[in-house]
Amino acid sequence: MQFTGITALARGRGANALLTGILTVASYIVLEFGLIVLLPKGENRSLIAVAAAWTWIALVFIFVRFVVGGGMPKPDSKWNCSQCRYLNDASSVICEACQQPWKSPDKA
Ligand SMILES: [Zn+2]
Repeated sequence: MQFTGITALARGRGANALLTGILTVASYIVLEFGLIVLLPKGENRSLIAVAAAWTWIALVFIFVRFVVGGGMPKPDSKWNCSQCRYLNDASSVICEACQQPWKSPDKA
């Protein structure tokens, strides 16, 4: 799981990829360094801070994946954009290449 993965996912969900990326990186840094400062001194302090920061990233990932764009029609599998033929992932509700929303083939 990487920051680029989150921004790509956010773009596919119709969210602002740049904003999602910046917020994710910023919150990660704040959490990791904030916890190192706040936690009582101990051998595991930096380990706990890193673990907490990655847990947060995982939560953001889950939020973007399941909540953002949740009200939009969803594809069941990988799909080709009707406009530019780009092969999109099943998690994308809009085309990653041209931002065209996914349309159900039944309704087209
Ligand atoms: Zn497209």
